[in-house]
Amino acid sequence: MTSKVSRRRFLALTGTGVCATALAACSFTHAAEYSGGGAALKLGAVEGGEHTTATPTPRPTPVLEPRSRRVVSLMPGTAWQADGVAIHSGQPGPRIMVLGGVHGNEPGGWLAAQSIAEWEIERGSLLVLPRLNWRSASAFVRTLPDYGDLNRLYPGDVNSTQPMARMAAAVIEAGRAFQPELLFDLHESWVFYAERGAGSGTAFIGQTVSIGTGATETTVDRISNVVRSVNGEISAREEFYMRGAATPRPGVRVVPSNPSPGGSTPPSVTPAPGPNGVSFGGTSSLSLGRWIEGCVPILIEMGQQNEDESRRSELHQMLVRTTLAQSGMFG
Ligand SMILES: [Zn+2]
Repeated sequence: MTSKVSRRRFLALTGTGVCATALAACSFTHAAEYSGGGAALKLGAVEGGEHTTATPTPRPTPVLEPRSRRVVSLMPGTAWQADGVAIHSGQPGPRIMVLGGVHGNEPGGWLAAQSIAEWEIERGSLLVLPRLNWRSASAFVRTLPDYGDLNRLYPGDVNSTQPMARMAAAVIEAGRAFQPELLFDLHESWVFYAERGAGSGTAFIGQTVSIGTGATETTVDRISNVVRSVNGEISAREEFYMRGAATPRPGVRVVPSNPSPGGSTPPSVTPAPGPNGVSFGGTSSLSLGRWIEGCVPILIEMGQQNEDESRRSELHQMLVRTTLAQSGMFG
């Protein structure tokens, strides 16, 4: 897939560029990532640690952190270190996590996450990990050979030879520490779902918002309200479809449980309805509700075809921003 990211601009976004831009306001003098943590939280650093497929531990009440922006490093000290930021408003409220850069050839997702990492909030907390597979983004490939596909490797394995399997475990460790109620994973596809024709598979699911494991009907209502609101502000071509809701909500179009109308390629995420009818995910991020207690994962796929990269980033941001706004996180 083509990209309009210039090399110069891209370099500004890689590696330490994250800290230079998204984390400019971080207070590095306050190294503790979470209250009671003592030193900076190092996620995924220990090889040979306990495997993360264990049943999630009981969920304690999150500690209210003071207003701050703090660096969070996944796989610190390794060649794959991925830095993000925990933004605490200092006030009680929703805790929302955002993943970007899972696939290196989907710049709309990681550009959006980098912008979100600079937001200010007035209630709750936001954990943004914009460039989880930044080396693949540097090469502008989905994922480098031998890295593994992060979005097919949850819950991960700290002992794996595949770095993205270890990253998957680190994402879950970060999620368990942060305790988000919602997690957004920002991706890109190619064709817009409404224009897919007979095509199917992962290249034809642009403009879809998928709800993963753990969603209650209340959460489906919440995300439906976000999608409905955003759809009211964008072009008909850009309209988002929802995927994963057992019962469609008024005014929001849904993707059938098996989006393979004419093709033989299976969808990237195999629907597997759970007790509430909205559970699927396999080993993608849509399964993260299985591993991070209380968290409902939301996976956004943005169509790249004939859509400018900056617009794709903005559409991602609109969905996340509207969620935060409707949750009262902007005050
Ligand atoms: Zn992707």
